[in-house]
Amino acid sequence: MSYATDGAVAVITLDNPPVNGLGHALRSEILAGLERAAADAAVQAVVLIGKGKAFSGGADIRELNTAKLSAEPTLLTVISAIEQSPKPVIAAIAGLAMGGGLELALGCHYRVASPGAQIALPEVKLGLLPGAGGTQRLPRLVGVERALDLIVTGAAAASEEVKGLFDAILDGDLLRGAVAFANRIAGQRPLPLVRDLPNAHPHANALFQAARARLGGRGNPAPLKALEAMAAGVGRPFAEGLAAERALFLELLASAESKALRHAFFAERAAARIPDLPDDLVPRPVRSAAVIGAGTMGGGIAMNFANAGIPVVVLEARQEQLDRGLATIRKNYESSAKKGKLSAAQVEERMGLIRPTLDYPDLAQADLVIEAVFEDLAVKEAVFKKLDAVMKPGAILATNTSTLDVDAIAGFTSRPQDVIGTHFFSPANVMKLLEIVRGKATSQAVLAGVMALSKRIKKTGVVSGVCDGFIGNRMLDKYAKQAQLLLEEGALPAQVDGAMESFGMAMGPFRMSDLAGGDVSWLIRKRRYAEQPERKRQVIPDRLCELGRFGQKTSAGWYSYEKGKRDAIADPIVEELILAYSKEAGIARRFIPDEEIVQRCVFALVNEGALLLEEGIAQRASDIDIVYLMGYGFPSWRGGPMFHADAVGLDQVLEALGRFAQNPHADPQFWKPAPLLQRLVREGKTFNG
Ligand code: NAD
Repeated sequence: MSYATDGAVAVITLDNPPVNGLGHALRSEILAGLERAAADAAVQAVVLIGKGKAFSGGADIRELNTAKLSAEPTLLTVISAIEQSPKPVIAAIAGLAMGGGLELALGCHYRVASPGAQIALPEVKLGLLPGAGGTQRLPRLVGVERALDLIVTGAAAASEEVKGLFDAILDGDLLRGAVAFANRIAGQRPLPLVRDLPNAHPHANALFQAARARLGGRGNPAPLKALEAMAAGVGRPFAEGLAAERALFLELLASAESKALRHAFFAERAAARIPDLPDDLVPRPVRSAAVIGAGTMGGGIAMNFANAGIPVVVLEARQEQLDRGLATIRKNYESSAKKGKLSAAQVEERMGLIRPTLDYPDLAQADLVIEAVFEDLAVKEAVFKKLDAVMKPGAILATNTSTLDVDAIAGFTSRPQDVIGTHFFSPANVMKLLEIVRGKATSQAVLAGVMALSKRIKKTGVVSGVCDGFIGNRMLDKYAKQAQLLLEEGALPAQVDGAMESFGMAMGPFRMSDLAGGDVSWLIRKRRYAEQPERKRQVIPDRLCELGRFGQKTSAGWYSYEKGKRDAIADPIVEELILAYSKEAGIARRFIPDEEIVQRCVFALVNEGALLLEEGIAQRASDIDIVYLMGYGFPSWRGGPMFHADAVGLDQVLEALGRFAQNPHADPQFWKPAPLLQRLVREGKTFNG
C-alpha cells in the first residue's frame, strides 16, 4: 500500500501483486491509511485505487486455508471503517474488481471505473458466497434481478454494463479522473452509504422461487445458499441480511463441496510445479509452431496456437486432406464469429497465422512441432524420422499420441532429449487439459518449455510419465472395464450412465463412449489383444463394433441416435446383445444397486490412480484429480477421484475393494489394492495429505 495526497485528496494505492489480493497485511494498511486521512485536516476525500492491472482480485488466495484469512482486521472491519469515515471514500476501479475486491468497493461512498473494467462476485465457483456484504449491497445498487444473476453464476461483467454500480465511468487516466471526482463531491453531506438504500423488488418471491427451481438441488450448494442470503435481505434491515449472509457463508466454508472446489483451485496451480526442475532453468522458448496432420486433433491444436498469436505451419500428407482440415478450422472460427465471440477481422487474423503446407522443409525453423497423425507406430516412425532430418537443432518434437510409447517414438530420432508427448483432449481447441508426457530422455528445458507454453495457449498442463494411456486413459480403461462388467452382471447402459450422472459425472461411460467413437477404443483393444494374447476379451463392446456401431458418428453405438440429434435412445438390439452374452458366459443376471455401480466405477479409478502415484507416473494425487476434473467430466464439487476417496475415507475404499474381489465374476487381480492405498490406510493418511 502507498499513501499520498493530491491537494485535498488522499490516495491509498493497494499494492499486493499480482492482483492486490486483500491479505491481512493489505487490510491492515488500508485501515491505517484511512486513519491517517481522517487525522489530516487538509484531506477532504479519500481515493482507493489499485496498483498495476487490478483494483483487487479479492481474498489473497495464499491465505485461503490459513488463520490469516479471518484475522482482524477482516474485510468486514475494513468496510465498517470506510462506512464510518467522516470523509468520503471513492473506489477507483480499473482492470478488475472481483470477490472481496468488489465488496470493498461496494462499501465505499462512491465508485468510479474505467470502461471495460471487469467486475464479478465469483465466490460460488469455490463453493462459497460473497461474505463481506456482497449479497446485501449489490442488489441495493443494481437491483435484485441483476445482482442475483451475477452472484449465482459468478460471471464477470464489464463496468459500463452494470447499471447503477458506478457513479461515473471515466475515460482517460483513472487516478486523475478519480481525484477530480473526489474534489467535486468532497463537500456533499450526508455521505451516501449503499446499506441505506432500499433492497426491494416488486416480485421478489416469484423471482427467487423461479431461480431456486432453475438451480436445482444437486452438486455445488453455493449458488442456492447465495440466493438464500439474498432472499433473507430483501425488504429487511441491512443488519439482518448481513447476519444471514454471515451464517450461510460459514456453513459453506465448512461444506465438503467447498473444500473440494478449493482443492481443485489449488490443484490447478500445483500442477504447473515440477519438483525436480532447478529454479534457474531456462525453458526452451516457443515462438513458432508446426502441426503434422490436420485431422480432428491437428486442426484443433493449430487453432490453439493461432488463438495465442503464435504462427503455426500445418502439414498434411495430401492436398485434399490439407484443404479439408483448413476448411474445418475456418468453419470453427466463423461459427465463433456468428456467436459474437470473434470479429471478422479476428477470424482473418487467426487464419493468417496458420500456414498450410505439404513440404517438410517448411517446418524446419519452427521452435516446436506437434505430430497428430494416425495412431499407428509405423506412421509415427516415418514422421519422426523426417522431423529428425529437417528440424533445426533445439526444436521440440512432440507427439499427440493417446496410448503409444513416447520413449519408442523418441527412439526413432537421434535427439530423444527433444522429444515429448503433448496429449491434447478432444475438441483440442476447447478442452483445457494437456497431459505433458515426459519421456525417459526428455530434457528439463524441453519439459519446462512445454509447461510454459501450456499456460500461453490457456491449457492446464499436467505432467505424466510414459505408460500405456498415461494418467487419464490408463485410469479410464479400468473405469470402462468396470462399467462393462456391470453390463455382463445385470445392468444396462442407461442404468450405469444414470447412476454415474447422478453421482455428478458430466456424462456416463456409455454416452461418453458413443460421443468419442467406439472405433477408437476398439483399435486400441485390438492392439492390446495382439500384444497380450492372454488378455481377457471385452466381448460386448467388440461385438457392438463388429456390428459397425461406433456411436454418434454412425447413429448407433451403446444407444441409437436420430440423424443429427445427440439424444441417446435405449436400443433393444443392444439389450439383446448384452443379455445373450450374460447367458453364454453362464452369468445369472442380478439387480445391481446404483451405489454399487458408482463405487465400482469410481474406486476402479482410485486404485489405478494410487498405482500411478506409486510408479511415479503422476507427480502428486492432485494432478490426477485435475486430469479427471478437466479431461473427463468428474464433478468439480467432488474435487477429483483421489480427493473424493480421501473424503469417503481410504479405509472404506480399501474395504470396498475387498468386497468387490469376493464377487464370483470379478477378476481378483483387478481389485488387488495398490500397496500405496494399503500403506496410507495403515498410517491413517490420505492421498492429498
Ligand atoms: P484423424 O484421423 O482425425 O487425423 C489424422 C490426420 O493425419 C489425417 O488428416 C491424416 O490425413 C493425417 N496424416 C496421416 N498420416 C500422415 C502423414 N504421414 N503425414 C501427414 N499427415 C498425415 O486422427 P485424430 O483423431 O486427429 O488423431 C491424431 C492423433 O491424436 C492420434 O495419435 C490420436 O491417438 C491422438 N488423439 C486423438 C484424440 C481424439 O479424441 N480423436 C484425443 C487425443 C489424442
